[in-house]
Amino acid sequence: MGIRIRGQGMHILHIASEMAGVVKVGGLGDVILGLSRQLSKRGHRVELILPKYTLLNYEAIEELQVINKEVWSYYNKGWHHNTIWSGWAEGIHLYLIDPNTTPEYFDREQVYGYEDDVERFTYFCRAALEFLLKEEIQPDILHLHEWQMALIAPLYREIFTPLGLNHSALVFTTHNLKYQGVCEPTVLEEVGLSIESLLTPEKLEDDQKPGMVNLAKGGIVYADRVTTVSPSYFRELQTPGGGHGLEKTVLQTKGKWKSILNGIDTERWGPGVDPYLPLPFDPTPQGLQRKEQVKEELRNRFGLAQETRPLVSCIARLVPQKGVHLIQHAILHALQEGAQFILLGSSPILEISETFHQLKMRLAESGHVHIELHHHEELVHLIYGGSDLFIVPSIFEPCGLTQLIALKYGTVPLVRKTGGLADTICDIDDPSIPFEERNGFLFEQPTSAALEATLDRALTYWTEERDLWQRLVLQGMQMDYSWEKPALLYERVYEEASREAIKGDSPLSSC
Ligand code: ADP
Repeated sequence: MGIRIRGQGMHILHIASEMAGVVKVGGLGDVILGLSRQLSKRGHRVELILPKYTLLNYEAIEELQVINKEVWSYYNKGWHHNTIWSGWAEGIHLYLIDPNTTPEYFDREQVYGYEDDVERFTYFCRAALEFLLKEEIQPDILHLHEWQMALIAPLYREIFTPLGLNHSALVFTTHNLKYQGVCEPTVLEEVGLSIESLLTPEKLEDDQKPGMVNLAKGGIVYADRVTTVSPSYFRELQTPGGGHGLEKTVLQTKGKWKSILNGIDTERWGPGVDPYLPLPFDPTPQGLQRKEQVKEELRNRFGLAQETRPLVSCIARLVPQKGVHLIQHAILHALQEGAQFILLGSSPILEISETFHQLKMRLAESGHVHIELHHHEELVHLIYGGSDLFIVPSIFEPCGLTQLIALKYGTVPLVRKTGGLADTICDIDDPSIPFEERNGFLFEQPTSAALEATLDRALTYWTEERDLWQRLVLQGMQMDYSWEKPALLYERVYEEASREAIKGDSPLSSC
């Protein structure tokens, strides 16, 4: 431990709350796994620190063992005991932190959604650094993800650098800046930071709510480099309202931001490699005939009529960001126009769950709609594989992975022109783009009328322009949305962050 591997790339340590394969709520889990695997392939030593949730998929973790029973972590005027575990999952080396606290922070039924989420994750931030200090682990890069891990940046510089953690450059990534961790300033005191020196507009004070702390802002201000997940989202973050209240901070720190589009893990996602598909298929006309068989299987699975109709689908966390009213409208409109529809979604918001539950009841007898209201890791594969059209009508979307996965499976995306959706999908009718680069359908206004018009356009292509449709499908399948290019861009960010950290010229010193 603690030995830096030189000449073999960098030692990159991610600290995050999800990794696909072991714990996943949304795209964050996919990104942590996909990026880590690609960076490992490129010769870097990549590791991840995660909370040891009770709900981890332990079957996927190999060589699970306790490596340290004596990591003590400061929180709320006392020192608390943590057990550190090590294991391997999906080829990535994991450190799992198990706090022995009351209440139990990670022995819960869900990953997020508790009143004490800020307490759970800020405790974890300090515990992670105590572990690194005790084991003398000094990676080249500490890559922190989302508000949950953002406090590590100020903790590192303010408390742990004076104690000897001084080798790492800090990179903070916001995957969705709507979630910021705005909380009472006592949180700072609880982890041992000074409210007096950190609760200032230049540091962690929220831009909108004076007197409150903004954890994501702490990550942005203290990190050597900050990244987000698409160029359009980064532009939106700088506009009034588009930065979810943090636009001023984004603009002030603009120089150290980079936007890097997410990729998808092509060993996990793709019709040629997917173990959950009844049969594989490839991007050829013959392959598309096999896709028709997958479609048949999908219809059987959900009891949809086997008729010559387009099959539209949507897979999403059902939260306002995803345009829930538009999803609802799309289901009804698709049905009215003679298409079939499958929705797989889960919602942390009871009212939204209830609305879709009622819609499901109402349409139960139609024979052409299936609504599945929970998180289901296996079903998604069959839905991506067997559908014709995939809708993503988000109000905002930092990057979006579902449209990229759909493309790979020959399922044409129909998306709203925002954030990463605008950066990855080109409309079939956009004359400003060469035809070979077009891969889907776009609409601009977040209205039912705009969605309806675009859905009609797509259904007409499907029905009346079979050759063009097939070209569109095959083009989409062949586009490169792997992690290869994004991983190179992250490497560049890591190199820049390292230079910045060595200079000691972190933005903090200019604050
Ligand atoms: P977000 O992170 O905002 O949820 P993304 O498009 O970035 O959105 O990523 C969503 C990821 O979660 C995709 O891998 C998608 O397949 C998956 N997903 C979304 N809803 C479900 C569900 N109900 N069951 C299983 N996987 C889901």
